[in-house]
Parts: sequence; structure tokens; C-alpha cells
Amino acid sequence: MRKIKINATNLRKPVQIISIITILYLLQTGHVTIAMILIAGSAIGIIFGKVFCRWMCPMGFIMELMSGAVGDQKARSLYQYHKLGCPIAWVSGFLNRMSLLTVKHRIVKDCKECGICDKSCYVATLNKKYSLYKPGMKNPADSFTCSRCLECVDNCPTGRLAFNVRNPLEQSISKQK
Ligand code: SF4
Ligand code: SF4
Repeated sequence: MRKIKINATNLRKPVQIISIITILYLLQTGHVTIAMILIAGSAIGIIFGKVFCRWMCPMGFIMELMSGAVGDQKARSLYQYHKLGCPIAWVSGFLNRMSLLTVKHRIVKDCKECGICDKSCYVATLNKKYSLYKPGMKNPADSFTCSRCLECVDNCPTGRLAFNVRNPLEQSISKQK
């Protein structure tokens, strides 16, 4: 029997669909208001960073479908969308650099310096000051545009990257080498 690998990429779609249905239901039945969604979506950023856009937001879902429809432009579309977005994206994007959880290196795992993480990340692909493994570069997970897709974590062949509790003393992911 084929084993199904459980990782963030596989989990994201079901979480996104369940969250969107729940949000639309709560809005439709008047249990919550748009303002309450805006506040809650932004507040989640304190723990997770800009997670609402690609894991929960109906508009984010539509934008992702549209980005996927233009093939080679997908990375650029995602980057632009997460740069602009809406008030939730602005607040949670700002919180990316200080959220409790972030993408970081596991010290116990070696890095092969294969660069797969950077190729999986639309931030590192489009903005050369960011890298998930090169020394002295900025961590893309701290950037305003990181949407916590966690494709970098899933694609690292050595398990070197993790979405884990931030250590405020670690300024750059590359210094953790
Ligand atoms: S962190 Fe992982 S994916 Fe990135 S270069 Fe190192 S081994 Fe490769
Ligand atoms: S979660 Fe990883 S791959 Fe996704 S945008 Fe952030 S740093 Fe890049």
C-alpha cells in the first residue's frame, strides 16, 4: 500500500478548506463580523506569522488559484500578493520577524547546501538578499512576504529546516550553521 506522507504541504489544503467553510458559515450566520475576522487573523500572527493568508483566507485561496493559473509567474504572483494583500496580511507580515514560531535550522541535522530550500521559496527565488542556508543572508521566513507555506521545510532532504519556536538570540538563520 502506498504510504501518504503527512507534511505541511499535504495538510495545508484540508486546513484551508475547513477554515474557509467555517469562516464563511460564521459570517453568513452572523456569529462573527468582518472586523472580528480581521482582528483574529492579525492576532494569529503573533504566534505563527502570516499564516492566515494561505491557510485560512477565502481571498487568499482565490488568489492562489489565480497565481497557479499563470504557470511560470506563480512565484512572482505569490510574492506580489503577499506584499500587498489586506490589513491581515499587513499586520501578520510585520509580525513575521518576531512571531513565536518561525522557520529555523535544526542544529542536530546537517545541511548539504543543495539549495532546494531556496528554490522552493518564492521569497528567496525572487529576492537575492534572502536564503535559507547561505551564510550571512536574511531568513526569508522573517520577510514581510513569507506566507508560512512551509514548502522549504517539506522539501529539505535532510530535515535540517523546521517550523519551530524562535530563539530571539538567533538573528539570522544562516548564523545557525
Ligand atoms: S537547509 Fe536543507 S534544502 Fe536547504 S541547502 Fe541545506 S540541506 Fe539543502
Ligand atoms: S514558509 Fe519557507 S518557503 Fe514558504 S515563503 Fe516562508 S520561507 Fe519561503
